[in-house]
This record gives sequence, C-alpha cells and structure tokens, in this order.
Amino acid sequence: MLSNFIFLIITVLAVGLFIWQIKKIRRNIKLGREKKINNNASERLNKLLLVAFGQQKMFKRPWPAILHGVVYVGFVVINIELLEIITDGIFGTHRVLGFLGPVYSALMAINEILAFLVIIACVIFLIRRNITKVPRLTRGPEMRAWSKLDANVILITEIVLMLALFAFNIADLKLAAISNEELAGSFPISNWLVNGLNTFNVSALEAVRSVGWWFHILGIFAFLNYLPSSKHFHIIMAFPNVYYSKLEPKGKFTTNESITHEIKAMLDPSYLVPTLPEGVEPQKFGAKDVEDLTWKQLLDAYTCTECGRCTDVCPANFTGKLLSPRKIIMDTRDRMEEKGEHPAIFRPNHYKEQGEPRVKVTEEKTLLRGYVTPEELWACTTCNACVEACPVNIDQLSSIMEMRRFLVLEESAAPTALNAMFTNIENNGAPWAFSPSDRLNWADNLFVNVK
Ligand code: SF4
Ligand code: SF4
Repeated sequence: MLSNFIFLIITVLAVGLFIWQIKKIRRNIKLGREKKINNNASERLNKLLLVAFGQQKMFKRPWPAILHGVVYVGFVVINIELLEIITDGIFGTHRVLGFLGPVYSALMAINEILAFLVIIACVIFLIRRNITKVPRLTRGPEMRAWSKLDANVILITEIVLMLALFAFNIADLKLAAISNEELAGSFPISNWLVNGLNTFNVSALEAVRSVGWWFHILGIFAFLNYLPSSKHFHIIMAFPNVYYSKLEPKGKFTTNESITHEIKAMLDPSYLVPTLPEGVEPQKFGAKDVEDLTWKQLLDAYTCTECGRCTDVCPANFTGKLLSPRKIIMDTRDRMEEKGEHPAIFRPNHYKEQGEPRVKVTEEKTLLRGYVTPEELWACTTCNACVEACPVNIDQLSSIMEMRRFLVLEESAAPTALNAMFTNIENNGAPWAFSPSDRLNWADNLFVNVK
C-alpha cells in the first residue's frame, strides 16, 4: 500500500538523518586528545546504573527529581510502543502486539498513565521556567534566548506528542465500540475520556485516529532529529558520560609527565629523564583550544543539560565573580561546533550572537580568550562543588584546570600574586619568601628541642 511505502521511506530518512548527525558529533568529540579510560568495568557499570539509570544525583532535590523521573520513565516506556507503531506503519497491521494479551494490556495501561503524568510534569516544568522563573534556569550570561526557547520547545513537544497518542487511542476505542469489536489492550485514561466524545461519525473518527497516529510518529522522528541541536541530547549522552567518568577521588589532579620528570631531575641530579619513543609527541602544557582537551572533556560538553546545578553551588559565582561552570561547559560545546562540524540540521547552540555578552571575550578563534576569559578561570577555588552537583557526572573543574595550566606554563600569564609564589617554590622549595635554612627561626626563643 502506498501509505506503508511512504511511511517506510520517512522512517529510513529519519533514522538516516539521525545517524548522520551522530557521526558528526562523534567526529567533533574525536577532535580531543586521546585518553585511555578502560579500567574497572564493574565499578563503571555500577556508576552507570546508579547515576544514569537510577538518576541518583537528582534526588538531592526531591520534587524536581520526581517530576524528572516521571518524564524519563515515561520517555523510556512509551518508546516501547514505538516498536509497534513502526511495525504497524510498515506492514499495515493494527496494534500488532495485541497478541500478547494481558502483557499488552498492562503495557498499554502503564503507557497511558505515564503519558498523563508526563503531561502534568511538563506543565509544571513550563511554569517553573516561565512563570516562577527558577533563578538557576534563567540567570547567567550563558542562558540566552536559545537556551530558554530550547527548553520550552522540548516541553511543549512532549505534551503535544502525548495528546496525539491519546487522540489515537480515544478514536480507536470509539471505533471499536461502534463496530462492537473488542480492542486489544487496556486504556484507563482514554476509556475515561472517550465518554466525552459524542460523535458517532465513523469517517471523522477514522480521521482523528489517523491524524493522531501520524502526528505522534512524525513528532517522534522530528524530536529524534532535533535532539542533537538541543540540551536534551543528554538523554543519550548521559550514559557514556557517566560510564567514562572519573573514578579517582575528586580532589586528585592529573600531572604532566614531562614536568614530573623535570622536577625529579631537579631534586635528584642522578635521575635519568626517560626519552620518548619515536613518533610520540610530548604532552602539551594545558589547553588553549578544544583539541588540547581530552575526548572525555569534549564528551562532557555534549552531555550538559544546562540545569545550572553547578553554577548554583559555585562559591565564586555566588560571591559575584564572573565564573559560571555551566558557561565553561557550554562554551566548550560551542567552540567545538565552530571548530569542527555543525552536528545539527541547524546550529542554534551558538548563543553569543543573540545579545551583548556580559563576559568580554577577544576576537581570538580559540576556546581560551575567544570564549572563556582568564578572569573566569582564576576565580575558581578548585573546590569541586560543581563536579559533586552535576547530575550527569561532568567534570567542569578538569577543563578549567587545563586552561589555567596553559596560562601558567605556556604564557607565564598567572596573576602577579601567584607568580611570586611560583618563584618562591622554585627558589625556596615552599610558597614563602624565606630561605629553607630560616624555616625554624620562629622556634628560636621557644625552648623547643630541634634535632
Ligand atoms: S571548582 Fe571552581 S567552578 Fe567548580 S564550584 Fe568550585 S569554584 Fe566553582
Ligand atoms: S555541567 Fe552538569 S550541573 Fe552544570 S549545567 Fe551542565 S549538567 Fe547541569
């Protein structure tokens, strides 16, 4: 049948377009430095189950967590129905999974209840964003027109998709009742609403059923291809990002191998600095642009939900400094897309063009200074509060530290106070401006036994 053939073509095009976009995003992430992360698979799986599937970190704020949980579970379960819709669309069947009997009934009933709860949750989210204006969701130079529009587009789309599903189910129930047939499945919400539908016009009901069905599935295909342009891409990226997240204690910093060798040689003249194997480039000092960050740090940027939980707990931010860890992550994503490929059908992620940026950047085409200023970087206290707060295990601090390293080691552009400290460490082995031999002068008149 022609409509089945058209449906097949649309499905192939929608899935193909999505894969094309994913490949572009993959190439962007691969702009980053190589980093091997393949240790402790069982601990990583455990983290994946708790943080990504179980949404463990969301429960620090119970109400948003419950609402988010409803939308998340609804999204996962309702998409099981997608299998049936696609099969019906391609082969011209109707409710092909109906043969599952009670299992199908339970599935449809759960779907309907979740769809109803998703509508309620999305309405509450819209109110929080647009009427009560929760500060962390609206404030900050990074929260430009696109970020606000994106969230609203997603919430309204989810509501419309659920309404289309109900329209399809209600019309289907009414048609089955008119023709005295039993419809496979159980539909608690639609059964309740169907009584309000007084029409017995079969062709009108068939039109509603058909429009509801097509609207629902085309909406899902559109949603799928919109995702890579949206912060909602985190519903996919959260899983790999949590799996590959840092297992070491949060306060443990990475070191640069060549500097470690240099210091060892400085402290022990007999230490032999190992030579690098042929063809292996020495590790760069810090990060100036996205290719100096690791692929994991770039994966972080595609996982950000723009929820602002990190900025909300950042001591630098709430004491009025320029730093916002969310902005650092969003800047990294924007720069990646500027440098690499535009993964989306359109490129709305660039927010800078939409107004006067509060943060005065330069015209340099690099992440550092072109997007993120030294002033923001030096405001960081390295407290790790942002890392702790992030629901999808993004490590904002590691990117900040890499850019600070570049400023210090490549440009000697640390703040003056720090330069004095560095000189002291180099000359005296301590941050203070005293010779090591004077360190115990303070104990001279205290009758302390010094061995
Ligand atoms: S580590 Fe830095 S960016 Fe993160 S919360 Fe602390 S001060 Fe803010
Ligand atoms: S980095 Fe994490 S906490 Fe911060 S806005 Fe993005 S998802 Fe939210």
